[in-house]
Amino acid sequence: MQIARTLLELKLHLQNQSQIGFVPTMGALHLGHLSLVQACQKKKYFCVLSIFVNPTQFAAGEDFEKYPRTEKQDLEKCEKAGVDLVWIPTEPDIYPDEDSRKIFPYESPLFNSLCGQFRPGHFKGVLQVVNLLLESVKPQALFLGEKDYQQLILIKHFVQEKNMPIEIVGVPTLRDPDGLAMSSRNQYLNAEERHLAAGLYFALLSGRNLFRKGESSPEQIILEAESNLDQAFDLQYIQLVEADSLMPVKKAEPGQRLLAAAYLGKTRLIDNIAL
Ligand code: AMP
Repeated sequence: MQIARTLLELKLHLQNQSQIGFVPTMGALHLGHLSLVQACQKKKYFCVLSIFVNPTQFAAGEDFEKYPRTEKQDLEKCEKAGVDLVWIPTEPDIYPDEDSRKIFPYESPLFNSLCGQFRPGHFKGVLQVVNLLLESVKPQALFLGEKDYQQLILIKHFVQEKNMPIEIVGVPTLRDPDGLAMSSRNQYLNAEERHLAAGLYFALLSGRNLFRKGESSPEQIILEAESNLDQAFDLQYIQLVEADSLMPVKKAEPGQRLLAAAYLGKTRLIDNIAL
């Protein structure tokens, strides 16, 4: 496995590669991340995984400083999983100066919907870093988890609008055996919270069950999911939206997406399922 820590090293390692699959991450790798690697390998791409905790996607007061950084274990996991190249950029390689951090001329109404309502600046920061990472890696395919569904759709829209010749591959959410969506942030949960955490997924499933019994009112489906969520959660939202546009729906139909975000203690959890 190759490791690049500078842009020059990255360029050298990629110079003879014409079929590059890219898995951008913030590290603290778990099996969910590695399922993206597997999807990349299945399609026979040269698999590049990046590890970069991007400061511009964290709002003030969020967990940028305490976000888990586990480089040694991450590299071991990548090696075992057969990643071809790990890129661990330095902050100056991504943001050479203050302007490059501040200026990113792209807007989307989706920046302020769903999770965006509660995380101002987050999705703009995500697209900013993804754009810079893509410029350096120049992949043919980009592998993203459905776990971060709004992020997946925003990146899809961005790549389409910018006419970038990149295939976007959405990979289903990998879950712990009890149903909790795997996430680097799950390690913030204490034992009691961890015990309750899969409840977010089961609340979404209860909404979907109501739909499958014949209910087509989005309000009723959302209400069902909300009423099945344990009181211990501090709910931010549950929404039913079109899978591609993320616009709220008037009538529930198969394929639409039910998304939720809630705090459990100090940990913010997100999840989503298809109807
Ligand atoms: P992160 O390191 O949290 O920025 O995530 C990097 C990539 O891994 C993103 O495309 C995520 O959507 C994806 N990912 C995170 N958790 C999971 C999961 N449980 N299943 C599938 N993909 C995931």
